[in-house]
Amino acid sequence: MDLYEHQARGLFQEHGIPVPRAEVADSPQEAREIARRLGGRVVVKAQVKTGGRGKAGGVKLAADPPAAELTARQILGMDIKGHTVGKVMLAQPVDIEAEFYVSYVLDRAAGRFLAIASAEGGMEIEEVAASRPEAVARIHIDPAEGVTSAKAQEIADAAGLPAQTVDVLVRLWQVLVREDAVLVEVNPLVRTRQGQILALDGKVTLDDNARFRQARWGADEAVHDDPLEAAAAAKGLNYVKLDGEVGIIGNGAGLVMSTLDVVAGCGARPANFLDIGGGASARIMADGLSAILSDPAVKSVFVNVFGGITACDAVADGIVQALDAVELTKPLVVRLDGNNAVRGRAILDGRAHPLVQQATTMDGAARRAAQLANTS
Ligand code: GDP
Ligand code: MN
Repeated sequence: MDLYEHQARGLFQEHGIPVPRAEVADSPQEAREIARRLGGRVVVKAQVKTGGRGKAGGVKLAADPPAAELTARQILGMDIKGHTVGKVMLAQPVDIEAEFYVSYVLDRAAGRFLAIASAEGGMEIEEVAASRPEAVARIHIDPAEGVTSAKAQEIADAAGLPAQTVDVLVRLWQVLVREDAVLVEVNPLVRTRQGQILALDGKVTLDDNARFRQARWGADEAVHDDPLEAAAAAKGLNYVKLDGEVGIIGNGAGLVMSTLDVVAGCGARPANFLDIGGGASARIMADGLSAILSDPAVKSVFVNVFGGITACDAVADGIVQALDAVELTKPLVVRLDGNNAVRGRAILDGRAHPLVQQATTMDGAARRAAQLANTS
């Protein structure tokens, strides 16, 4: 789960990393009051779980409380890379002398954490890494040793960061470990003209597998940023939104993943990943279908079921009941194989829905679904 900047800022503060004074508002009026409390001049920052807010117009300086209200009005409701701004953070502005980049990220391939640091912060680190790779230090961290003062000094030296950042580097590691994060990033970490080191922006990604021991991120805290993912999760469905056009429903994660590959191999892009699991009841099928059909990006749907414990006739019954419950607006290609496949196919033939077609093989069905998605 990604955290909002203001949540990351809260964690930084708890672990002793200096941050500017700031408060969160969800209305322009509230923004005005906060600006007054913070001394008038404020930076108004869109709270969305994506970077590049500055470039998108989501980070603006306001000279006084009325200007803060006006700016908040402009930023609230704004769309930044598909994320709607629901809250703004108002922060006390600081005079920046230098901007740095620091992060710790889990490097799964190396089985270690990786510190990435640069004295050229502020802009996207990918751009710095592409144009001036020598300006970006990358140092692996042994998870058992962690970031000691000596290790932090090594990171700061490699990146050309001032000695004052060493303490922040150690504390940022403590955020990662104690909060069960797989990524912590500060961009920019700044030195102010007054010589203070401050984390001006923060990104934290928590390890979802550790949520059971991080009680503060309770039920009200959405794990799923996509509204469809959230709705599907509430119904106990394993649904992941992707970027393509073919909606995919299958039973079992392995089958669904290979279905994604086969669809991609047929020249189409999967719109999502929906695993209905072992007990594909009519209700699950109906919930799954309506979840997928409510995604406007979906142009065709591919239901790929291999009956094992789940019998294909039960799945077919589920599809038929789903067709009665939700209005099918897009073509549906169904491939049923395995346990009771013949009976399952007969049930679907009996329903004879004009938008439903069957295929006997996974490849054939994928080709058909891809074709339908690419021509509609
Ligand atoms: P991002 O674009 O989503 O990464 O948002 P940031 O929080 O990093 O803000 C973008 C840029 O705005 C930063 O790199 C800073 O250069 C600038 N900025 C943010 N807060 C302040 C501030 O308090 N004072 C000044 N002078 N600039 C700021
Ligand atoms: Mn930033």
